[in-house]
Amino acid sequence: MSGAKDCCHSPGLLSVDEAIAQLLSQTSAVTQTESIDIIDALGRVLAEDIVSNIDVPGHDNTAMDGYAVRSEDCSQPGATLKVSQRIPAGSNGVEVKPGEAARIFTGAPIPPGADAVVMQELCSRDDDSDVVTINKAVCAGDNIRRAGEDIKQGSVILSAGTKLRQQEMGLIASIGAAKVRVYRKLRVACFFTGDEIVEPGNALQAGQIYNSNRYTLNGFLQTQACEISDFGIVPDSLDATLEVIEKAAEQADLILTSGGVSVGEEDYVRIALEQLGELSLWRIAMKPGKPVAFGKVGRALFLGLPGNPVSVFVTAQIFARPVIRKLQGEAEPLPRPVSVRADFEWPAVKRQEYLRARIENRDGESWAILYPRQGSGVLSSASWADALVIVPVDRAITQGDGIDCIALI
Ligand code: AMP
Ligand code: MG
Repeated sequence: MSGAKDCCHSPGLLSVDEAIAQLLSQTSAVTQTESIDIIDALGRVLAEDIVSNIDVPGHDNTAMDGYAVRSEDCSQPGATLKVSQRIPAGSNGVEVKPGEAARIFTGAPIPPGADAVVMQELCSRDDDSDVVTINKAVCAGDNIRRAGEDIKQGSVILSAGTKLRQQEMGLIASIGAAKVRVYRKLRVACFFTGDEIVEPGNALQAGQIYNSNRYTLNGFLQTQACEISDFGIVPDSLDATLEVIEKAAEQADLILTSGGVSVGEEDYVRIALEQLGELSLWRIAMKPGKPVAFGKVGRALFLGLPGNPVSVFVTAQIFARPVIRKLQGEAEPLPRPVSVRADFEWPAVKRQEYLRARIENRDGESWAILYPRQGSGVLSSASWADALVIVPVDRAITQGDGIDCIALI
């Protein structure tokens, strides 16, 4: 692992940006790919460009229920036309001749001869009558969705390195592809250190706390479509830590842990990693989450997050998320910050802060409102929040200032 460079503002501390850059420079995407059904593709990353073999839509069709007409017949309101045919979606009409209209329903192909559709609300027709009155002047092209308007045959609809969301799943289906080639699932092993932590469902003895980090991190890994091997609670002992890291490294691309990375006497992750692989223990100029460990054991990357519940949550978002996305083959692994206005004041700080906030819309502008208690043990703040506001080093924030935030998933 390359050595940590000091953050210019806090001697001995690494800046967040420098830490992310180092993490990403030592991370490369998995190479194996697999072909999967698109129904299973949520959160997976495309391993190849997807090219459409068809136009979408495949034919000019109507955007409205109404009447397909020849626009030259209806240049003035009040034209009366003979209804010569009925074209529901899924069937094809025949030619519309001068003086004729075709009853037509959304999605149905425009019949030959017609060059516009008039929505039914702008037409009058008595029940059973085969004559319709068009109460509007019509222009060629009205209410017609053109062939290839969404996707042109031969075009790249999605590039390799795109993470698939629900929108992409639908888009791929719309060109008729049943399968996609994606990078294989990332295998992430996790464990949680601490003699004081206990699984939910058990009674707490004096001095014990529940293992909330396990659930925060499992939920996080599920949002990232990872294959999870969860080794559970690991006691504060060197032997137990060595054993679990060895086992995890056999199968994982990434080992993600919480706790035990401070430099206290009961922090065995560092010692174990130094024996089994390599490790940089970073003191990062951020709050919450100062100590983060980064290393390698065999082929597995190792990311040791701090123990405090909010620190785990924040460092997973800031560090684990881009590392996982790069490992998964995503072309743009970093989240895009969003600009908002501060509905709070904050003093200038020496460590970059990640404040738990909600974004509210007021008069067309987005404002960040802070959870009142921002301590690193206050997990309620993370649950309340929908964004992390970034307070950069050495910049006092005053009410109304423009600031960046990261949307939470
Ligand atoms: P550590 O980094 O191991 O010193 O832990 C820092 C703080 O986080 C301590 O107060 C721990 O009790 C707490 N902590 C560590 N692991 C967990 C966990 N899995 N769930 C909840 N809190 C934890
Ligand atoms: Mg501990």
